[in-house]
Amino acid sequence: MNISEIVKLQKDFFKTQKTKNLNFRKMYLEKMQDLIRKNEDYLYVAIEKDFGKSRFDTFTTEISFILNDINYYLKNLRSLSNPKKVSTNLTNQIGKSRIYPEPLGNILVIGAWNYPYQLSLSPIIAAMAAGNCCILKPSEIAENTMKVMAKIINENFPPEYLYVFEGGVDETTELLKLQFDKIFFTGSTKVGKIVYEAAAKNLTPVTLELGGKSPAIVTKDAHLEVAAKRIVWGKFLNAGQTCVAPDYLLVEESVQEQFLETLVKYIRQYNYEPKAEHYTRIINQKNFDRLLGLMDKDKIYYGGNYDREYLYIEPTILSNTNWEDDIMQEEIFGPLLPVLTFSNFNIALNDILEKEKPLSAYLFSKNSEEKQHFTQKISFGGGCINDVIMHLGNKNLPFGGVGNSGIGSYHGKFGFETFSHQKSILERANLGEPNIKYPPYSEKKLHWIKKIF
Ligand code: NAD
Repeated sequence: MNISEIVKLQKDFFKTQKTKNLNFRKMYLEKMQDLIRKNEDYLYVAIEKDFGKSRFDTFTTEISFILNDINYYLKNLRSLSNPKKVSTNLTNQIGKSRIYPEPLGNILVIGAWNYPYQLSLSPIIAAMAAGNCCILKPSEIAENTMKVMAKIINENFPPEYLYVFEGGVDETTELLKLQFDKIFFTGSTKVGKIVYEAAAKNLTPVTLELGGKSPAIVTKDAHLEVAAKRIVWGKFLNAGQTCVAPDYLLVEESVQEQFLETLVKYIRQYNYEPKAEHYTRIINQKNFDRLLGLMDKDKIYYGGNYDREYLYIEPTILSNTNWEDDIMQEEIFGPLLPVLTFSNFNIALNDILEKEKPLSAYLFSKNSEEKQHFTQKISFGGGCINDVIMHLGNKNLPFGGVGNSGIGSYHGKFGFETFSHQKSILERANLGEPNIKYPPYSEKKLHWIKKIF
């Protein structure tokens, strides 16, 4: 069967109304849960082959995440799907108003390679919970994880409900010509624009989970030890190949020296050697070369070693960076950490305001005025004060970008809503309606209508 036949099958299947049934959704969410648990070892092996990601990181940043999502939807399916009563305005009395969340229909999810399981399965789990049929196109760059997801899903789910389509740019281009009720894309801003353009031809709504340059600001009022420890963890997790990793640091001049020393202390302590099990490799040669091109040898404060054979780049700090440097012109997406300094906090925020809105931003400070300015002045998808990345783990917070870093959000109830349409229904009683809106009109009727409004 080719992909357009599968899309057609899914469209026909959605029309049978079966996916709207809560027991149906529950049954397949439980099946997914069961399959992930049973195939956990295969998932670890595939990702290890793709870019040397450890079991520990794969469990904490991918598998546990997906299993938590399934648990959340299983527990909350009924309350999320129930119609919500809302009050009815005076002019619609006597009446009842309700909002019915309904599945959008046929969904296309396009995944990225850097957290290949989480970024592919988390959206399809939300789409299933909301009652949709779904096609997943994982990233071909992480080939083994793409294959293992295709095998697990295509051998265990009916294709008219859930199907994994393997392929790269050509296949995705073909897929984007077909009509869906929603496209959920995770990847670069550049490709996000291609997806948005293709979706516009069919007026298909999109969620675009994109990237950008996420700053971390460290002021003189920060707890420097905690800030360094958390930044080192978040930046070098997955070798910096994390969409919400701090891309660059803005450090207050007066604490720069002390802070850089503390960063180095933690990098050494965490021991990111070439063969360290906990240190992921760069995904491929192309990205490896791109990253080396961004490493300005004259600015290396710490690190700078690499091993092409292992696709290893040592955690590297670049100091004396300025906004014009090449490394500040694109998302780094690797273990290079440029450091800029500032002497005035508000000017630092203004500098961020001049750039595209990032996916995340982080502030390390104990100063309440700085926290308030950070929260209110600059726009970004989401972030943390005194930590990095961890906002993602809270299902009560929507996860998504703004401006160049994306459109829409998901996680928890926001994921359910992303794949649902909120259908409004007003039900009127047949009695008790004054006659004033009906012709023939009169001054008296207008007088009363003005009073009511
Ligand atoms: P990418 O944009 O290169 O690829 C993403 C997907 O798009 C892949 O499935 C790929 O096959 C497909 N694709 C690539 N080129 C295409 C084209 N010309 N036409 C149609 N489809 C195409 O991104 P990537 O390298 O996989 O991921 C890295 C980027 O993703 C970074 O910018 C990162 O910040 C971002 N990202 C964002 C999030 C988030 O949740 N916001 C998460 C992870 C990664």
